[in-house]
Amino acid sequence: MNNSFSDLSRRSFITKSGFALSTAALGSALPIDSIYASSDKRRGQLGIALVGLGGYATQMLMPGFAQTKRCRLTGLVTGAPEKKIRYGKEFEIPDTHIYDYETFDRIADNPDIDIVYVVLPNSMHAEYTIRAAKAGKHVICEKPMCLSVEEAKAMISACHENNVTLNIGYRCQYEPHNLEIIRLAREKPFGGARYVQSELGFVIGDPSQWRLRRDYGGGALLDVGVYCMQAACYAIGEDPIAVYGQEFKTDPVKFGEVDETVAFQMEFPSGVISNSTTSFSLDAHRLYVNYQDANKHVEIQPNFNYGKYRGSIAGKPMEFPFINQQANHMDVVAQSIQEGNETTTTGDVGLRDMKIIEAIFQSIANGGVRIEIG
Ligand code: NDP
Repeated sequence: MNNSFSDLSRRSFITKSGFALSTAALGSALPIDSIYASSDKRRGQLGIALVGLGGYATQMLMPGFAQTKRCRLTGLVTGAPEKKIRYGKEFEIPDTHIYDYETFDRIADNPDIDIVYVVLPNSMHAEYTIRAAKAGKHVICEKPMCLSVEEAKAMISACHENNVTLNIGYRCQYEPHNLEIIRLAREKPFGGARYVQSELGFVIGDPSQWRLRRDYGGGALLDVGVYCMQAACYAIGEDPIAVYGQEFKTDPVKFGEVDETVAFQMEFPSGVISNSTTSFSLDAHRLYVNYQDANKHVEIQPNFNYGKYRGSIAGKPMEFPFINQQANHMDVVAQSIQEGNETTTTGDVGLRDMKIIEAIFQSIANGGVRIEIG
């Protein structure tokens, strides 16, 4: 199984990217398992259970379901009794479809839940992905996939052994400006990429939050650095062979346990290099790609966000419609399950990124030396 961007054919890319979604034929031969499930499945919709009803699940994913065509919210997993009541009522989820972390494994018996979407703190991704796979459910796991290459491999194995799919929440690959970057890498109208710069940072608030705790998998590189490495890889259309990393700390108290700002460079097989900065203490949301046709470059700023994107391509404005990335992502995952193919954001891509992350940390620990990616 190989999910490198360079391996994608145009046809599969268009389908997987979701641009062809509205016209794609809906599968009609899905098994009808229960009364509740039957109406959804006749409509060609798969049921998703959200695990962890925090900021991203409630503010971005729940509203996204208003725009999904191939999936709907059919289950909730939360440790907070008040959220069970509030969101159960709001989304008309029956009590039988609402779980806590102790009763989670009973989800195996619920035919209305096809996909478990793990939206927990990073340190919990591996455990809940593996438990969901063992329950026979397909999995979408938020980024970063987990905390180590070892965990990523265990997650992939669990999904493989239980014959379910694993997708990572790389929403930007379902956003039109970034899809154009992917198209440029594939079709090379300006030649291949020659240099990529990607930056993502924000000023983090509450000093007590889990993103600042090592045991929860906090830190800028894991949290937002993944967007930068993702973008460099899809802009170039290759996987990196080596990295260099540097860490900068201005507030050793607030960032006592985790990285505050990390810069890293990646070398790609074709000789192209990328340069990225990711941070919890500065604002940056930019992707710049310079092509072999030296006059041609693309710049997207702001990039990687939820709202409007602004970009220019070879000096002209990029004009793409605003779409709900979360809805498009969930629909493309549902479509891939229904049609038996793969998205561009599988667990294997998450594993590649965990290898990059481990290599960057290894480089930092060794004074910024070049680390080859195994
Ligand atoms: P939050 O802290 O807002 O929510 C996490 C939720 O996890 C909590 O509300 C809680 O839900 C549950 N939880 C269970 N155990 C714990 C625990 N010990 N400590 C804290 N929370 C716990 O985090 P986010 O929603 O911002 O992030 C969740 C995941 O989503 C992360 O992996 C993050 O990287 C990813 N994310 C992705 C984004 C994207 O754009 N793709 C954007 C933002 C986040 P409950 O009360 O229901 O049990």
